[in-house]
Formats: sequence, structure tokens, C-alpha cells
Amino acid sequence: MIERFWLFHCAYARIPRSLIVEGGGWELVTLPMLCGVAEHSEYGPILFDAPYGHEGPSNLGALMGSVMQRTGLVFRERWSVVPRLEQLGHRPADVSHILMTHLHYDHTGGMKTLAHAQFHLSRREWEFAHQDSARRAGARGYARSDFQSLEHCVTLYEPVPHLADSQEGIDLFGDGSIEMFFLPGHTPGHCGYRIHLGDGSAIFFAGDAAYTRAQVFDEQGFGLMPKTVGTSMGGVQVSLRALRRHLKEHPDDVLITSHDLQLGERCIEDGPICYGD
Ligand SMILES: [Zn+2]
Repeated sequence: MIERFWLFHCAYARIPRSLIVEGGGWELVTLPMLCGVAEHSEYGPILFDAPYGHEGPSNLGALMGSVMQRTGLVFRERWSVVPRLEQLGHRPADVSHILMTHLHYDHTGGMKTLAHAQFHLSRREWEFAHQDSARRAGARGYARSDFQSLEHCVTLYEPVPHLADSQEGIDLFGDGSIEMFFLPGHTPGHCGYRIHLGDGSAIFFAGDAAYTRAQVFDEQGFGLMPKTVGTSMGGVQVSLRALRRHLKEHPDDVLITSHDLQLGERCIEDGPICYGD
């Protein structure tokens, strides 16, 4: 059973709104890199993505890391996944399972620091991240050095039921606590997770299927960044429609996207958000 779920930021970037939202103008907004931890009574803390280890954005190379920090990315070592787990009262050694939405650099920087855990992701994502040279993968947003030594600790799923086709995902722990769904488009193997809490509520952790929740709820358009980073905008639209339908059928589900501006603002101003207590 999952007792509670914590959401927190590992970094944020100050960037023009138009990069995220269509027609958003030049006003600067704060784009968070969010991460979650579900507290499972049997399996301990279960992490959702692992954005940033102690080196922060240098996982893309020292030069790129410093360019990013000079152009608006704000990172503090205390925000990286290991200190974050400790701040929430967990020993990083107790993390046995990490559920990855996809393998873009802003979701993987902390993977190496948790190499004792099992990483769960779609086979499609793993293969896509490895199909080209490291340099080409880098141009597509993959920092392969974050996970290339972790082949022995990944569990790859294929097929994963597409949210558009199925009401039920893969029951990852056999107890109905977390379901895995295929939500491709942003990357070819992108997945989302439906988390069932002990109090009967549910969270849908949708990763980068959309950048903001308003892009799911209000049909707010995508800005330059989601449009250029996404590998298939047709695929993104299919996944978005599936998410909208799911949320219509399950209006009490709490939707989380990894870069939601409002959730980020709450985390940055008030600290980690707790669901289920
Ligand atoms: Zn992302």
C-alpha cells in the first residue's frame, strides 16, 4: 500500500513563457524539474524519475552545464535526489525501485547515485536511447553517461498498454498500487504511472506527456520547447487525448506533469508537496 506521495523540485530554469506555452510572450516564468517519491509500506520509497545528481546539469558535459547555469538554470546540490530523499526521512540505500517516464537528461542525472536500485522503463525507451552514437543521442536530449553502466539493473517492459487503448496498465508490484501506461510522443518510449494511495485517491504521474497541466486540461498550446523536443507531435496528440479521456473518466485523479509551472511554484515557495496525508 502507498501511504503518501511527495513531489519536489531538483532544479528550475527561468525562461520566456513562449518557450513553454504557445503565444506566451517574453515574460520570464519558472520551469521546474519535478521528481516524486511514493512511500510503499512493503517496498519502501519508490522514486519517479531521478533528475540530477550532485553534479547537476553537468551530466550533459561540464561546458553545457555551465552554459545552462549561465542562461537561467538554477541548481543546488541539496535539491538533487539523494539529499532530497534524506530530507524526506529516507535512506537512499532503502530505494529499491525507480520508475522512469523517459531518459531525457533532465530526468536521469541522479540514476548513477542510486545504482543499487532497479530501474523500470519501457524497452522502446531504452533501445531508442542507445540506437545512435552518444553524440547523436546527446543532441536528442539523452545524457547516456547517466545510465550506460546500469544495464544490469534495468527492467524493460514490452509491450506496455497504451493509455489510449487500455483502462488497465501493467500492475508493477502485483498489488494494484502502481500501474504503468505507454504515453509516447515526447519520446518514443515515454510512459506514465497511475499511483493508487491507501486513502483511495490516485495520482497520474504523466512526466513530459505535456509540460504543464493546463496543456492537458485547457488545451493550452505547446510552446517552442515541447514542440522541438518531442520526437512525434502526432504521438504527443494521441497521448494527450488519452490523458484527457482518462481524467474525464477519473475526475478525482491528481495530474502531475514534470514541468508544471504552478506545481513548481508551490514546491519552490513552500517545499515538497505531500499527497495522501
Ligand atoms: Zn523533461
